[in-house]
Amino acid sequence: MSHHYQSILDSIRNEVLPLQNDGAVANYIPELATISPNRFGMHLRSIEGHDHAVGNSNENFSIQSISKVFALALVVSLVGEKIFKRVGVEPSGSSFNSLVQLEYERGIPRNPLINAGAMVVCDMLIGQLKKPKNEMLDFVRMLAHNKKIMFNERVAASEKEFGFRNAALANFLKSFGNIQHDVDEVLDLYFHICSIEMSCKDLATAFLLFANHGKHPGNDEALLTKSQTKRLNAVMQTCGFYDEAGEFSFTVGLPGKSGVGGGIVALHPHKYAVATWSPRLNPKGNSVMGMKALELLTTKLGSSIF
Ligand code: GLN
Repeated sequence: MSHHYQSILDSIRNEVLPLQNDGAVANYIPELATISPNRFGMHLRSIEGHDHAVGNSNENFSIQSISKVFALALVVSLVGEKIFKRVGVEPSGSSFNSLVQLEYERGIPRNPLINAGAMVVCDMLIGQLKKPKNEMLDFVRMLAHNKKIMFNERVAASEKEFGFRNAALANFLKSFGNIQHDVDEVLDLYFHICSIEMSCKDLATAFLLFANHGKHPGNDEALLTKSQTKRLNAVMQTCGFYDEAGEFSFTVGLPGKSGVGGGIVALHPHKYAVATWSPRLNPKGNSVMGMKALELLTTKLGSSIF
């Protein structure tokens, strides 16, 4: 089986290479636009702990919205499903930073994987943790088995400087009473977790948690219950790709999450977690090569969750 995964990854790399000039790097956060665009990496880690990789799979990149899954997992591990009183579990069908739904749904974000939902999660984490930024980073480091994972302060500052829309979302939530702490404190945590830098290898390792009933390899105790894990996978499946969640289900068929740094991570329960990275994005904000690579993976393996 191991050999099988590696030869599939090798052929995927050759097949996605012709797409390397398609799409555009995110530039609404100026610091993200400084990345060299023609990159492609992919790392698959099986549930047995076997690693398979191609391309720039060990290079660090900005995980951006992928961090929303880590924040959600941490809050659920701390307070259980109470979080879902303040944020829904429905796909938004609109872009990740849209303001409109929030107005007519009276400050309850559609789901925790869009910006407004992640801000509510951050607000809850601030209420639960003594040092939320440090403890979030420690949680991610523990899951990825990598103590060197860091925030990128330049990216966090750049996002703060140009984060007018995110500031609007946070203030809007506050006006509905769905943010309890200081808006700037919530935004500071939100921008920092988005700025975390990881490699495809780190992400595939960390996401084994969701492929393994909430028990992370290396930890004796489960971090999430089986039921919580299934539910978080369901949220990723329906909401992990902004308004392209249907497309990802349709073409790839795995729960996962994307970020505007060009990363995508997905998992097949009980089998593997896989991460891809390529900075050029399609108009919906998802990595062009990453989407294609994962479509090819489940097609070649002949198995998705469906
Ligand atoms: N930090 C980005 C933002 O808030 C995250 C967006 C994303 O990756 N979709 O706009």
